[in-house]
Amino acid sequence: MHEVSLAGGILKIVEDAAKREQFARVTLLRLEAGSLAGVEVRALRFALEVMALGTCLEGAQIEITTPPGEAWCGQCNVTVNMMERGDPCGHCGNYQLEPTNGMALRVIEIMVDDN
Ligand SMILES: [Zn+2]
Repeated sequence: MHEVSLAGGILKIVEDAAKREQFARVTLLRLEAGSLAGVEVRALRFALEVMALGTCLEGAQIEITTPPGEAWCGQCNVTVNMMERGDPCGHCGNYQLEPTNGMALRVIEIMVDDN
């Protein structure tokens, strides 16, 4: 359940932004959790909702998108799609792929209510 510490990190980003930009309430939080980020989205959402209680994030709508991963295959010399870490290359079956995209968990957008 490292999603709890991930949720804590996200909450800190939101609270730092609230302090800096002086908003009291978040209405929508949009996150991106790449397919190769190793994040269980449902667990992350649950952890965020629990930790948000009593903070500016309480009651906010939370949207989490999961863009597909990409990896570099050194045998084919191309970038291939990778749905999950450990998947082989779809062309040659090579398992030695180097993930190049979709590993990030990040905050895309914070929409706030200024009142
Ligand atoms: Zn390949």
